[in-house]
Amino acid sequence: MIDLHTHTNQSDGTLTPQELLGEAARVGLEALAITDHDTFAGYDQAAAALNGIDLICGIELSTKYEGRSVHLLAYFLKGDPGAEFRTWVLGLIASRRQRNQELIDTLRQAGIQITLEEVSARGRGMIGRPHFAAVMLDKGYVASAQQAFDKYLGESGSCFTPRDEVNFSEAVARILAAGGLPVLAHPGRILPDPAAFEDCLDGMRSAGLRGLEAFHSEHSAEQAKAWATLARRYSLAVTGGSDFHGAAKPGIALGAGNIPLSVLQELRRVA
Ligand code: AMP
Ligand code: MN
Ligand code: MN
Ligand code: MN
Repeated sequence: MIDLHTHTNQSDGTLTPQELLGEAARVGLEALAITDHDTFAGYDQAAAALNGIDLICGIELSTKYEGRSVHLLAYFLKGDPGAEFRTWVLGLIASRRQRNQELIDTLRQAGIQITLEEVSARGRGMIGRPHFAAVMLDKGYVASAQQAFDKYLGESGSCFTPRDEVNFSEAVARILAAGGLPVLAHPGRILPDPAAFEDCLDGMRSAGLRGLEAFHSEHSAEQAKAWATLARRYSLAVTGGSDFHGAAKPGIALGAGNIPLSVLQELRRVA
C-alpha cells in the first residue's frame, strides 16, 4: 500500500514531517510521497529522518489553465529537483504573501477581526487559507474550519480572494526541465465526469502532462476506475493518494484508498 499525496505542517497539514513518517509506518505504507503546497521543506526534513520507508519527493502547485485553478503534482522519482527549480518554487510563496494581506483586508471589512500575525503564527513558510480558517474557528467567527471555507474563504465564499497562479504550461515545462513527472491532481474536483474531460486532457497532454491522479479520497471507487481508464486512453500514467492533511482534514486517513505498490512501480517505469 502506498500514498502519493500528503501534506505536512510545512504547508497546510498538521503533522510534522517526522510524525508523518511515523504514521506511515504505523498504517503500513510501503511508499510515501510528500506533496506539500509550494514547498520542499517537509520532504527535506523527512528525508533527513528516514525510517526505512520509500520516500518520494513531490510538490503540489496551483496553476491556471484556461481561466480555471488547476492543481498539479510533481514527482521526482529519480532524485531531488535541482537548485533552479527550488529557487523558482520559493518565488511562488511571494504571490501567497500578497494574497494573504489582501484576504486579511477583505475579512476585516466583513467584520472578521483577525490579523496576519495571528494567521502566520499557525504556519511555517507556507501560509494558506487553512491557517486563516483555524484562526477564525479559534476566535469564534465560525463553528468549523469547513464553515470558514463555505461562508468566507472558498471560491463561493463572500471573502474569496484569488491569488496569482502560475500558468499551467509554464509549471509543466519547469517540472519536466527539473526531471519531474507532472501529474494532474484530483481531476474530479475540476470536472466530476471523466467523459466531459476529454477535450481538456488533449490540451494538457500537449503541454507535457504525464499523469493523472485517478485514485484520490474525493473520487469514488467507480470514478477512480473511470479516471484510470481515461488516463490509459491518453497514455497518461495513473497515480493516486489520499491528500492527507492530518487534523486539518479529519475525514481523510493516511493510506486511504489502499493504493497498491504496483501503481508506483508503473510510475517508475514511465519516469
Ligand atoms: P491556498 O493554497 O492558501 O489558497 O489554500 C488552499 C487550501 O485550502 C487547499 O489546499 C485545501 O487544503 C484548502 N481548501 C481549499 N478550498 C477548500 C474548501 N472549499 N473546503 C475545504 N478546504 C479547502
Ligand atoms: Mn491543502
Ligand atoms: Mn489540491
Ligand atoms: Mn493536496
